[in-house]
Amino acid sequence: MAVRDHGLFRKLVTPAADTAHSGCYICNNVAGGVDTGVYIDYEGSLFLCTNCIKELAEVAGMSVDVEGEMHERELEYLHHENTSLTAELADARDQLDAFGIAVARAQAKGKH
Ligand SMILES: [Zn+2]
Repeated sequence: MAVRDHGLFRKLVTPAADTAHSGCYICNNVAGGVDTGVYIDYEGSLFLCTNCIKELAEVAGMSVDVEGEMHERELEYLHHENTSLTAELADARDQLDAFGIAVARAQAKGKH
């Protein structure tokens, strides 16, 4: 997804290639989270997964909006679905182009 820039913080579906610990700095999770934009020398970018961020927020006394979480999951699902369907559409277009070329060749042969 790699969207929603928020100043230094970037929400990512998976940790970036230069992420410290190759995932969440706290639990090593490689699921979605936030790249903090903080670069740790010799380690990489400080990334935190959404689970740890949620726990941090709860410990800090913030309530987590359950409905908002549900929408986040739906958004993530729809993004994956969209990516997959876009790839399928591109594949179908390639097949249709190939079919069109084959038909044109067959028609050209038939005229001779
Ligand atoms: Zn984590």
